[in-house]
Amino acid sequence: MQAQAPYRVGQGFDVHAFAPGRALILGGVRIEHPQGLAGHSDADVLAHAIMDALLGAARLGDIGHHFPDTDPAFKDADSLALRAEVTERVVRLGWGIVNVDATVIAQAPRLAPYLDAMANRLGQAMNAPPECVNLKATTTERLGFTGRGEGIAAQAAVLLARL
Ligand SMILES: [Zn+2]
Repeated sequence: MQAQAPYRVGQGFDVHAFAPGRALILGGVRIEHPQGLAGHSDADVLAHAIMDALLGAARLGDIGHHFPDTDPAFKDADSLALRAEVTERVVRLGWGIVNVDATVIAQAPRLAPYLDAMANRLGQAMNAPPECVNLKATTTERLGFTGRGEGIAAQAAVLLARL
């Protein structure tokens, strides 16, 4: 592999279980839903998947390494703020974000009405125009843990280019 290759790809995957009494935050946007996601931070499963993709592309490990869930500093932390920090670390290494493509996998709620707002927020947190971010939402046809409404999964792919 060429260490100085002009492009690097990364992928990320994350899952959080639903929990009562929590706000549902996806891509930095509050979504109307009777329950939110369990987690140490704000449990923004989409932001976490994208962060892992960014860290992976820049060969910086994973989120758990940078923001351990045993550290009280990250309790209920705003994932977009963490993401801004991840972006800064990636940029410091000389990488620019070309594009992000991500999928949220949830039986409910319906996310289509929120996708544009989420892409805007995510783009802002990465200092990238919203055109760099493409979001999709899908169900698993009632199969598996997402299909039974037990939680939400997200996956993301990121392309970085040498600045
Ligand atoms: Zn997570």
